[in-house]
Amino acid sequence: MRALPLYPPLGTDGPSGGNTLDMFTRFDLFAKFHKTACRDLTLFSSSEIRAASGAAKACSGFEYPSAAAGYSPDLFTSCLFQVILIAMQTVRAYYDLPDRESCSAEIREIRPITDKAAVILDKTIFYPEGGGQNSDRGTINGVALLDVQERDDEILHIVTADDAARLSPGPAKLVLDPLRRRDLTVHHTGQHLLSGIILSLTGKPTVSMHIGEEVCTIDVDTPDFSQETLIMLEEAVAGAVEENYPVVIHHCPPEKAEDFPLRKIPPRGEAVIRVVEIQGKDFSPCCGTHLQSTGQIGMLRILGAEKYKGMMRVSFIAGRRVLRDSRLLRHNGSFISHALKVPVGEIAEGVRALLDKNHSLEQALKAREEESALFKAHELLREPGADSGNNTLLSASIPDAGMEEVLRIGRAAQKLSSRVILLAALRDNKFAAFCSVKGIDIRNFIQEPMEAWGGKGGGGPSFFQGLFPSGEALTAFVEALSAIPSLQKH
Ligand SMILES: [Zn+2]
Repeated sequence: MRALPLYPPLGTDGPSGGNTLDMFTRFDLFAKFHKTACRDLTLFSSSEIRAASGAAKACSGFEYPSAAAGYSPDLFTSCLFQVILIAMQTVRAYYDLPDRESCSAEIREIRPITDKAAVILDKTIFYPEGGGQNSDRGTINGVALLDVQERDDEILHIVTADDAARLSPGPAKLVLDPLRRRDLTVHHTGQHLLSGIILSLTGKPTVSMHIGEEVCTIDVDTPDFSQETLIMLEEAVAGAVEENYPVVIHHCPPEKAEDFPLRKIPPRGEAVIRVVEIQGKDFSPCCGTHLQSTGQIGMLRILGAEKYKGMMRVSFIAGRRVLRDSRLLRHNGSFISHALKVPVGEIAEGVRALLDKNHSLEQALKAREEESALFKAHELLREPGADSGNNTLLSASIPDAGMEEVLRIGRAAQKLSSRVILLAALRDNKFAAFCSVKGIDIRNFIQEPMEAWGGKGGGGPSFFQGLFPSGEALTAFVEALSAIPSLQKH
């Protein structure tokens, strides 16, 4: 039997004794290999890795070197690296210990990632984002997690670069944010129940889902949902919550997944399919975290449904979010009820009546403002000298008016006179110019002095408006324009 060159990249750092793979289960050796050798896996193509993985499985439990005898040295090396890599994967304790809020673990590595850092653990209670469910939060040795992501079979616990400097490889205490986990788990399980009931009662499948921080959504392959249907679905979910159906997790090989009446197609390439069953009601392949029974959902509210890419996007909340939502709505409802002096149950009618009344008042006010502007425009045009010839400038500063009122007065005056009218709203340091005569472009004589006095503005041949940094600059600009004897010259 020929001795195979087991670890060419490792040289003398490789194990020198022992004849079985069991020796590799020692964590210190794994860690050493991971740091020095597994990087070399990048030298292999993904198909080579898959081949090595299969070979590694075939080698499982073999005794070195006899079982390795049919493999080339390179492939065998690749196999072993793959075995090591699989052994190096973080144990997903969030499945085995779903209710654990803290546990001890080992920090294997702290790796810089752009402007942050990723902590690699030997096991984790933090669920990484996946399957439509957001990642958990919590702390590692007191350092707050920003995110948890899965990349290439690695679970990356993302922390700030500054926080990463406070961590080092070795023992670690993991503490979960249990309220966030509970909230996400409630909504995830609620989504299974809602999608299952929609399928069973309407025959319409859920195409995608998102468990959001505020609101969750599912996209259902149907062109429409009536309000009556949504209420019927919501009531059916409430009934299933009251029945408190157990939620059971099944693990099976991919070829056995078809034995379950699955609501959606399981992912490809998985060695084990995880099937989440709401007892007899819904079977779905899923990697998320789930409650033990539907009663733990507490309550699920469908907030609404809107058309989205040819489907219906149904939004919902569940659990404590329903309680908080109800509390907020009752608080707001009580406020409106007291303000309008109507019962809470009639606030919609009360608000509608208030809006109607408000609209009438706005219309009446607008009419009065237009009347007032017309009156002031007449006043302006009656001032001494206001009857000068056409196309000459009539300027006025209106001390207490804002720009809105100046615009109303100017538009009214424009209809009454063929002069160029320049009105300054001293309160706002703004001005507006109006001209109703064709062939006159007021920009020709406004633009230059405006800029000379530090103003900014724009407009067209018959309307121009601008802003000055101070009342003094605006007044000086108006006086400069008034000194121009006639616009005919421009
Ligand atoms: Zn799920």
